[in-house]
Amino acid sequence: MKFNTKTIHGGQKPEEATGAVMPPIFQTSTFAQSSPGKHKGYGYARGANPTRTALENSFAAIENGTNGFAFASGMAAIDCVLRLLKPGDEVIAGDDLYGGTYRMFTQLFQKYGLEFSYVDMNSVENVTNAITQKTKLIWIETPTNPLMKIADIQAISSAVKNINTAILIAVDNTFATPYLQKPLDLGADIVMHSATKYLGGHSDVIMGALIVKEEKLAKEIHFIQFAAGAIAGPMDSFLVLRGIKTLHIRMQRHCENGKLVAEFLENHPKVGTVYFPGLENHLGHKIAKKQMKDFGGMVSFKLKGESKEATFKFLENTKLFTLAESLGGIESLVNHPVTMSHASIPEQERLKIGITDSLVRLSVGIEDIEDLLADLEQALSL
Ligand SMILES: *Cc1c(COP(=O)(O)O)cnc(C)c1O
Repeated sequence: MKFNTKTIHGGQKPEEATGAVMPPIFQTSTFAQSSPGKHKGYGYARGANPTRTALENSFAAIENGTNGFAFASGMAAIDCVLRLLKPGDEVIAGDDLYGGTYRMFTQLFQKYGLEFSYVDMNSVENVTNAITQKTKLIWIETPTNPLMKIADIQAISSAVKNINTAILIAVDNTFATPYLQKPLDLGADIVMHSATKYLGGHSDVIMGALIVKEEKLAKEIHFIQFAAGAIAGPMDSFLVLRGIKTLHIRMQRHCENGKLVAEFLENHPKVGTVYFPGLENHLGHKIAKKQMKDFGGMVSFKLKGESKEATFKFLENTKLFTLAESLGGIESLVNHPVTMSHASIPEQERLKIGITDSLVRLSVGIEDIEDLLADLEQALSL
């Protein structure tokens, strides 16, 4: 099956009892047993639930993995990956990360004895130079949130595995989605998603996903998920499965609109730097072109003059672009990283990588492009 077919049919079959084409929402916590320990594959719903299983099979299919796991949130999925490690282990992560990921690394897991180093993953050498005897995990986000930096997944994976095959490579594929890039095919061991974003796609559910391609890792992750309990519920699983069925056509439009918005901003007299991997002057453009099918719908930019007042005026005056946290839904959203998504990053760290007061992040939706550009134009002209 090719990708578009997989989003609809991957890992799916009509439900056995009734032939229902969409899996029913199995709103149950437990399943009858005919004799102690004897059941039809489902014991207690923390371990597995048929609606969640249908979604997890879809996750595995669209990322070309063998096993998928649905979590209560993207953060719960990342938490599960870190629980594969033990005190003293080291993690190398990118220097531009989703704020919540940075918060979890620095404020939760550092307390439990994990060590983190942060490097600019634009260069493979920065990653390999940071490897020590204790390195157990490389955490890659590409494109990054909010600066849209690009890391070469294939080059990093092969360079790291050349040094030590036991080091795990995990990729947060939230921004790109498997429509644009498939990290497992590029050498990664684990793919993570905030399914809250493009996979769900309709801003109506919080969920996380992990996908792997190897049985031993799948067993470890299933054990942690079952033992720690941060699972996705059946209703949410139904919603995200429904969302995935239109992922490919939504992403196609997100990409078209994202590119036009980036070009509009680049030519606008009030706009300074535009961060979009589809622009030829973007630092990661070449790698993005090689690694991704298209460039996605996320666009960040700075206002010329770096004025906080002017930036807030813009943020208060967009009408179609709703000022809100999150991204990846059908509707366009605008976000101010400094006060919203990335508020948990200390000012000094933010400024080091360029997250300033005038930085704005757009999640370009699938509305008519003329309406989106008109909205940006009127808000910029105020
Ligand atoms: C939103 C997001 C997360 C966290 O996911 P939640 O579903 O909000 O817990 C992690 N990584 C990236 C890139 C995100 O955008």
